[in-house]
Amino acid sequence: MPELPEVEALSRFVAAKAVGTTVERAEIASLSAIKTYRPPIDDLVGRGVVGTERRGKYLLIDTDGLWLVIHLALGGWLQWREKTPAARARPGKGPLALRLGLSSGSGFDVTEQGMEKRLALWLVTSPDEVDGVARLGPDPLADSFDVAALRTVLAGRGANLKTVLVDQSSLAGVGNAYSDEALHRARLSPFKPAGKLTEDEIHKLHHALIGVLTDAVERSTGLPAKDLKAEKRSGMAVHGRTGQVCPVCGDTVREVSFATKSLQYCPTCQTGGKPLADRRLSRLLR
Ligand SMILES: [Zn+2]
Repeated sequence: MPELPEVEALSRFVAAKAVGTTVERAEIASLSAIKTYRPPIDDLVGRGVVGTERRGKYLLIDTDGLWLVIHLALGGWLQWREKTPAARARPGKGPLALRLGLSSGSGFDVTEQGMEKRLALWLVTSPDEVDGVARLGPDPLADSFDVAALRTVLAGRGANLKTVLVDQSSLAGVGNAYSDEALHRARLSPFKPAGKLTEDEIHKLHHALIGVLTDAVERSTGLPAKDLKAEKRSGMAVHGRTGQVCPVCGDTVREVSFATKSLQYCPTCQTGGKPLADRRLSRLLR
């Protein structure tokens, strides 16, 4: 799933390519992806693209007061087309959800791979009309997100750090991958109760979060949309690297699996050398 750094890079990439052009085509190919009916998608046609924004993991395209809001979810992506295909996008079962053509002759396809269809599109006059956008917690890359802001996010929370970091209403834009990376850099267990951090640990986590996200934004900014996924994978120390060597200490990266996802961590760096119980694995071994 694209998280804050990838969506930020996509936003900057689309802005560089599209601002100043006019929408000439807006075609929905996945009826389940579009969540608003009024105004209709055709209303985008003839409007100028004036800017793009990222809010959490949402990509927003501003056509001078009418906003196309895109949530890429698990298997969604934006494919930039230097030349938009002439064929009109039609509702079907393929990965294509939306095709947007611009006056420059270029444009983009919004696609979604996989069985689970979670990609969502909205056309609104204000981004806050989208519930998920209105509910977003503070953005970790905002100037105002200081140590005190993180302390507020964590205060009184009985849930574990992993859960709180990926909760979009607590913190905007961090998902499964960058929460693993930030916890590893902060040398904190994903299962530590969020409300129980010491002042020193809050400082470390704040530093790690900002560092991991800023590094990833810097690596991905300027890259074409098609290269962002590989870039994301290559920058990971523990996420998606089960069984491989921790680049910090040389221990083996381990995994805890849940019903539909998993987290990765390094025991030496994060849990005092003790592997966390993996319920799925212990069940298999029993
Ligand atoms: Zn390690």
